[in-house]
Amino acid sequence: MPTPVDLLIEARWIIPVEPDDTTLEHHAIAVERGKIVAILPLADARARFTAAKTVSLPEHILIPGLINLHCHAAMTLMRGLADDLPLMRWLQEAIWPTEARHASHAFVRDGSLLAGAEMLRGGITTCNDMYFFPEATAEAFDRLGLRAVLGMTVLEFPSQYAADADDYLRKGLATHDAWRDHPLIRFALAPHAPYTVSNTSFERIGALADELELPIHIHLHETAGEIADSLRDFGQRPITRMESLGILGPNLIGVHAVHLTPEDMERLALHQCAIAHCPTSNMKLASGAAPSTRLLDHGLAVGLGSDGAASNNRLDLFREMHQASLLAKLSTGDASALPARQALRMATLNGARALGLDKEIGSLLPGKAADICAIRINDPDELPCFDPVSHVVYVLGRHAVSDVWVDGQQRMEHGKLLQITNTELLGIARLWQNRFRQ
Ligand SMILES: [Zn+2]
Repeated sequence: MPTPVDLLIEARWIIPVEPDDTTLEHHAIAVERGKIVAILPLADARARFTAAKTVSLPEHILIPGLINLHCHAAMTLMRGLADDLPLMRWLQEAIWPTEARHASHAFVRDGSLLAGAEMLRGGITTCNDMYFFPEATAEAFDRLGLRAVLGMTVLEFPSQYAADADDYLRKGLATHDAWRDHPLIRFALAPHAPYTVSNTSFERIGALADELELPIHIHLHETAGEIADSLRDFGQRPITRMESLGILGPNLIGVHAVHLTPEDMERLALHQCAIAHCPTSNMKLASGAAPSTRLLDHGLAVGLGSDGAASNNRLDLFREMHQASLLAKLSTGDASALPARQALRMATLNGARALGLDKEIGSLLPGKAADICAIRINDPDELPCFDPVSHVVYVLGRHAVSDVWVDGQQRMEHGKLLQITNTELLGIARLWQNRFRQ
């Protein structure tokens, strides 16, 4: 007797990411109650299962849903607001003044809807976010059905959201408690950066992370100036200071990690920290080229992040895979550096490892959640195709994503989001564009 399942997805190719270097042809994924129960050849799948719904994708590649390991979703409203400036001028002259005037619950909810929709359409099924009003991002991502880890942001200085570090933490923890039982929304502690958070706050954050078993999500060693300032103000490099404050550990996700000495890398490796590599943001703000291949050689979980749309200017992990691979080749002078399969692994399984979610997501394996991205390949300018993994990284873009599932639930079908219309999204973008102009 065939076994009943909720969903059978039949595809031309499946790249499960685990085991490594595997591409399956003419296979199907069986899904029951949000979980992958089997991946097997088409004929076997049809004989073994009767599915409530069967989706046939004969021109498609299935990959695990992509994991955006560093984002500021709500900043999508500031896409293209200020370009071609270095980090500090970009923050001080454009971003912080706009946030001071406009940041609010509605701003963050609307920006997060725009961002979440953009990510789902581009095959991203999990977002590790850091921004003010995380409850508004939770609301938006819950509506869209995007899996997320939301940062409880901490800064010493006041914003529209909170008055001081204690107030940020109090508000963040209240949101964490309110959303505690949500199946797709989780939380991290998100001290913004070593230069915006005091030692006292870091000690409290470290203790809370241990007590609540939460990741710590922090910008780290992004620019050369950050390190010079830290040496001047604390007599230590930021990573050394974080180590002495007890912040480095397997639950730490250091974002950027551009400027690193061999000793910095050894410290990160010793404490088994994870890294969110954001190649486009680093290139656009001229922060530098992160030593991604050396970090990977140290065994660190190096995932990929888009950063916010204000500094990228898109939330597109296909582009990040492409840029990460090319930047690694350029900066090492080695064409074999960061090959396509490693770029795909960074955008999926490494991101899951960094978030401590690799038992649940990051690869297509029985027992894991059915977070799946289908990419259609049938345009003449994308053919021929000899290796689907190479095509995912070097040829296909997010425009080719056709269908997306999160936790076995379909979020996009034939290129159309199921939870929100383009009309509503266009309305949101126009509304805030007009407000910023006033
Ligand atoms: Zn960032």
